[in-house]
Amino acid sequence: MNSDDEAFEAFEEYCDEQVKANEAWKLRWPNHCKNCEGAGGFPIPQTYWDPPDYDICVCTDKGKCPRCMEWAWPEDIENMDVPCKFCGWNWGHGKDDAAPQI
Ligand SMILES: [Zn+2]
Ligand SMILES: [Zn+2]
Repeated sequence: MNSDDEAFEAFEEYCDEQVKANEAWKLRWPNHCKNCEGAGGFPIPQTYWDPPDYDICVCTDKGKCPRCMEWAWPEDIENMDVPCKFCGWNWGHGKDDAAPQI
């Protein structure tokens, strides 16, 4: 086996783990937003500065938590930078906020 094969196997293993982690996350948060998978929004790829501009998802835009789909911030735009009071989702700062990406 040459080192390319080994690198490929390590990569496959990594993918397997990511798929499992992603499935486990979805089982744990069955009501999560299917649009953003817990991310709460999407970085806009056309921007080149850091941090990139961020498009808020329809869930957070309505005041719903992207992970548990409860009304975490009902008409309370002022307090939207606080974590979700139902599940603790914290704007991508929490370790388990968004589904692991595959
Ligand atoms: Zn969403
Ligand atoms: Zn929540």
